[in-house]
Amino acid sequence: SKGAALVTAVAQRLASQRRQVDETLSPFRLSQKQLQLVKSRMRMGLEAGLKSKGPSAIKMLPSFVYRTPDGTEHGKYLALDLGGTNFRALLVNFKKGLQQNTRLYHKIYTIPLEIMQGSGEELFDHIAQCVSDFLDYMGMKNAHLPAGFTFSFPCEQTSIDTGTLVSWTKGFKATDCEGHDVVSMLRDAIKRRNEFDLDIVAVVNDTVGTMMSCAYEDPECEIGLIAGTGTNVCYMEDLKNIEKAEQKTDKMEREEGTPEGGEEKLDDGTKREKKVGDAEIPKMCINTEWGGLGDDGSLNDIITPYDIEVDQNSLNPGKQRFEKLTSGMYLGEVVRQVLLDLTRGGLLFRGHVTEALKTPGIFETKYLSQIESDRLALLQVRSILQQLGLDSTCDDSIIVKEVCGAVSHRAAMLCGAGMAAVVDKIRENRGLDHLNITVGVDGALYKLHPHFAEVLQETARVLAPQCNVTFLPSEEGSGKGAALITAVARQKL
Ligand code: BGC
Ligand code: MG
Repeated sequence: SKGAALVTAVAQRLASQRRQVDETLSPFRLSQKQLQLVKSRMRMGLEAGLKSKGPSAIKMLPSFVYRTPDGTEHGKYLALDLGGTNFRALLVNFKKGLQQNTRLYHKIYTIPLEIMQGSGEELFDHIAQCVSDFLDYMGMKNAHLPAGFTFSFPCEQTSIDTGTLVSWTKGFKATDCEGHDVVSMLRDAIKRRNEFDLDIVAVVNDTVGTMMSCAYEDPECEIGLIAGTGTNVCYMEDLKNIEKAEQKTDKMEREEGTPEGGEEKLDDGTKREKKVGDAEIPKMCINTEWGGLGDDGSLNDIITPYDIEVDQNSLNPGKQRFEKLTSGMYLGEVVRQVLLDLTRGGLLFRGHVTEALKTPGIFETKYLSQIESDRLALLQVRSILQQLGLDSTCDDSIIVKEVCGAVSHRAAMLCGAGMAAVVDKIRENRGLDHLNITVGVDGALYKLHPHFAEVLQETARVLAPQCNVTFLPSEEGSGKGAALITAVARQKL
């Protein structure tokens, strides 16, 4: 009959739609074998970066941080934190042996787009103005505090307080900064204001700050991970493996000495055991800049046409290819490219490519997190899409949720594969069959996404079975960490 024919036609159309959606998403579903490959490429990239004095996909930048905090840090420090989306000023007060009692005041300032992408002088003047406002707010304009500067971009360092910006990443593109020392630029901007003085003691990547702040509470923390607007990892590497820092090694041993084992009496009367053995091996924290994996083409076999589109539309085409598969600034864009393709193929939104769908950046991490939340009914997914200006049917919202899931799941697995490479390297450095290690983590993708953290951890567990990796979310990580590094650096003066 006619009715039966219609039912069959509808069923066939649905089946073919399903098949096409599955086909579109299948390149995002990475096999164990592919993840193993990513792990081993990451490992090779780490090794190559440690050796090479010239450019390499993974930069492996020396941080001139030689140890994690030991609880003896004390005093008041200012921390200035230029992250992916805003600037934060913090005042941190450490008390010897009283990690739980650290006092902290902070204020957040947004960085307008025209400042992120204007001139370098304007950017640093803006930062100096924020610092001025914060010091007024704290009533500390004349305090001349020691300060740590968290600068969440790749910097080539030759000491703890100099850092030449290699290249902007994420949403930044201010002119006349690349190739310049960001500490000098900040000092110059403060001089131009001629209103307050700061003693900038350290420049710190956000991963290093995060590791330090977590290590303050957990001595097993020797890795820092950011999964936020951008992505990156740092870890404590044996100095002898950092070939490109060789000449600097002698200088460091004069300045820092080698940590001793034993016990130490702290202010509150308790004793804290110093790590013996492992602590005797001189180390330095390396800012890997792992987001650059694939910049030499090594990820071309897993990169999809959607990723290529996202890369081409970005501020830094060809760069940070791993970051563009795994971090908050780009995941929504990958999703949008897939949705555009499905819509053009008539599989979504009744085939209408609307202005909203053509708008770069509409799918921020917070929306992805909401859409993928298991507690959310499909009706709520539709209402989020509605807010974004996308009229959806119930079928549409199922597909959108599926696309978001495929893209963020791939991101978490890739980060997990990268992390497996890092922990196995540390384990092998130490000649251990089994390694217990803690990773300090920060970033909205890790902290707010409903599945990212779990998938990342599970992937790292499966791909590095000889390591027991604990992930410790940091509180006020990168800023507090910069203050700690400043404290550690100050103690040596
Ligand atoms: C930067 C890193 C930073 C990471 C997380 C990346 O884009 O290159 O230096 O650590 O973002 O903020
Ligand atoms: Mg940050």
